[in-house]
Amino acid sequence: MIGIDLSGKTALVMGVTNSYSLGWAIGEKLLQAGAKCMFSYQGERLQASLEKLVSPYEGTLTEQCDVTQEADLERLFARIKEEYGSLDYIVHAVAYAPRASMEGRFVETTQEDWNTALSVSAYSLVSVSRHAEPLLNDGASIVTLTYYASQKVVPKYNVMGVAKAALEASTRYLAYELGAKNVRVNAISAGPMRTVAAKSIPGFSGMLSKAAEMAAMKRNATAEEVGKLGLFLLSDLASGITGETTYVDAGYNIMGMNLEG
Ligand code: NAP
Repeated sequence: MIGIDLSGKTALVMGVTNSYSLGWAIGEKLLQAGAKCMFSYQGERLQASLEKLVSPYEGTLTEQCDVTQEADLERLFARIKEEYGSLDYIVHAVAYAPRASMEGRFVETTQEDWNTALSVSAYSLVSVSRHAEPLLNDGASIVTLTYYASQKVVPKYNVMGVAKAALEASTRYLAYELGAKNVRVNAISAGPMRTVAAKSIPGFSGMLSKAAEMAAMKRNATAEEVGKLGLFLLSDLASGITGETTYVDAGYNIMGMNLEG
């Protein structure tokens, strides 16, 4: 049996709102494997509940950081330097698009909503990587979360599909630039899962049942499965894998047609 022991490793996990968050699914696996973790949250509103969530794991740190604010990123990475000295893992589980941009037609996306969605959901991976670079250890690894609507049209996903396409391309460019330093960057493409962010997608419940019907495994993937893939990609078990988008969707994306039902 291969156990993953990450004791002595340090991690930053960005984008945990509650125990359903995909960032938590990966972050909790890191904690269970023995890594020291700092969790960043967007606004003070989340501080108390996040602190409660991490409280069983002694020594776990929290820090406020809105990824669109350079000053927040500077403060976050200064704190990481002070607390840990260096960093082994980053989980980027942050995304946002204004609800109106997902309710209307894609052709009506405003420039403001486009900029917001792309800035929070894609550019932030670039700026986080830039701030982190001086602290990253040899063998460090970054993981982000994406969705299939980057590749194919998923009605209502709209500008978020474009943001995820930019995120996946950014993953490849970052993997190229950081590769020579033995730092890996990968994206996990998760099937639909019930989280706070998912609730803002119009018709999300229908998406869940349709995805399960179509999937090779006839079910939805789970957050637990995202956590396991995240742990694998971050750890040395995936030492030769970088720039990839790996699906954990119970085999939805491999299907071209569903002849049943
Ligand atoms: P979630 O629990 O709501 O997590 C999204 C996180 O992004 C929240 O903690 C949110 O903070 C944070 N965030 C938004 N704007 C931010 C900003 N400006 N600065 C810092 N943090 C910000 O939902 P989730 O589904 O786990 O989402 C995590 C990732 O998985 C996202 O990239 C999402 O697109 C991706 N994903 C989700 C699914 C799914 O079906 N759930 C499928 C594929 C991929 P607040 O709560 O404060 O807004």
